[in-house]
Amino acid sequence: MRSAYPLLFERSVPGRRGADLPQLDVPELSGLVPQSLLHEAPLPLPELAEVDVVRHYTNLSRRNFGVDNGFYPLGSCTMKYNPKINEEVAPLFNGVHPLADADCAAGAIRLMDALEKALCEVAGFDKFTLQPAAGAHGELTGLMLIKAYHDMREDYARNVIIVPDAAHGTNPASAVMAGFKTREIKSAPDGGIDLDALRAAVGPDVAGLMLTNPSTLGLFEANIEEVAKIVHEAGGLLYYDGANLNAIMGVVRPGDMGFDVMHINLHKTFSTPHGGGGPGAGPVGVKKELIPFLPYPVVMEGEDGMPMLDYDRPLSIGKVRGFYGSFSVLAKAYAYILSLGARGLREASENAVLNANYVMHALRDAYAIPHDRICMHECVIAPTEEMLANGVHTTDIAKTLIDFGYHPPTIYFPLIVHEAMMIEPTESESRETLDAFIAAMKEIARMARENPEALHQTPTTTPIGRPDEVQAARKPVLRWKAEE
Ligand SMILES: *Cc1c(COP(=O)(O)O)cnc(C)c1O
Repeated sequence: MRSAYPLLFERSVPGRRGADLPQLDVPELSGLVPQSLLHEAPLPLPELAEVDVVRHYTNLSRRNFGVDNGFYPLGSCTMKYNPKINEEVAPLFNGVHPLADADCAAGAIRLMDALEKALCEVAGFDKFTLQPAAGAHGELTGLMLIKAYHDMREDYARNVIIVPDAAHGTNPASAVMAGFKTREIKSAPDGGIDLDALRAAVGPDVAGLMLTNPSTLGLFEANIEEVAKIVHEAGGLLYYDGANLNAIMGVVRPGDMGFDVMHINLHKTFSTPHGGGGPGAGPVGVKKELIPFLPYPVVMEGEDGMPMLDYDRPLSIGKVRGFYGSFSVLAKAYAYILSLGARGLREASENAVLNANYVMHALRDAYAIPHDRICMHECVIAPTEEMLANGVHTTDIAKTLIDFGYHPPTIYFPLIVHEAMMIEPTESESRETLDAFIAAMKEIARMARENPEALHQTPTTTPIGRPDEVQAARKPVLRWKAEE
């Protein structure tokens, strides 16, 4: 069956051409390639005019949804607007070859040095490595540093990482990847860490604790200093998942809260476009004691006072990525930091928090708010009991938002909230945008009361409405085949 969006293969018309080549004006050569190596029939490529191809791809690109064409409140992902100035700056470094001598790449090394120093200042750490390519990669790197630290002290019994249940899913996964076992602790009813559960969980086998803060509930951990004290007194180190630093940047610093290691997602907080697998960057910051273990090369001050690359790092965990990390992402983050300045970064966090609280407050009467306290940069809401009784679930609300022209929020995450919807408006959205989104959410709440069945039919504005998600995952159709 021909779909409304046929593939190029389906549009193919025998003999149609997109290229206009001149007549051959030299004798045609034959016999150079043995007959046995030649195709028996021409390759089955689509035959199309140039305009067919241009329209095909242009129309496909119009079906894309991105921050540049609409509101994208995908919680925990910080899909904020990325100023175009960043894109102007990054290519200025395209001329540097990754294998170039450090002498010929002094500008790039200075940029790395300056970015590291800025991150140290923002987060309160002594040194950063810029190598990790993503947040989860930063976690793995940070955990390897924790392991190297305990190993150097011959404290080999420490093989457990404590992970609260409100942590991001990558935290326990990274801990296991790094060779640790995980010990989960449950959240207290207010969404924070249960301190008694933490006290019961620490011991001589604990290498450290990973804290996602703000947690996946969008909440700031109120007892953070006490948490740090308990873990340190038990001999563990503290890992801060700072992927969502955009909630606190310029206001408080993880380093000052007692943390030993952290990662930052440049492709969230520091405004690099992300999605589709990257590239991203998850720099890892450490306190003094952990500097010797950082991946090499490390940017250090040379004898002439200029930054240089130091490869002589006997205690280093090694390299975690080719060359120096996702350099273009580093350049974009640095441009972002310089263009906002210290005050601008703080304002960005303040507005991110304000926007999330504005949305949560406005939706209070229409939806359930499982943890009803001031949130950080994102809020978690859920369908009301009445919606659920009418058969309206989070999926239905998310799918209906597509018809309203919005990217749905993150759904069914965090796992500890039943039917969760995690909304992260980000600081780059205006009040009008938020108001329009709130109006759409309220309209959906009204439909859920008056015409719940309609919410099962959405989206109606996309080529495919509701694919069979189980079949799509279990039996994906990834190749087009000609119909026999
Ligand atoms: C996004 C996120 C991560 C993972 O970052 P990636 O770059 O996708 O690997 C980890 N922790 C938290 C809290 C996050 O929001």
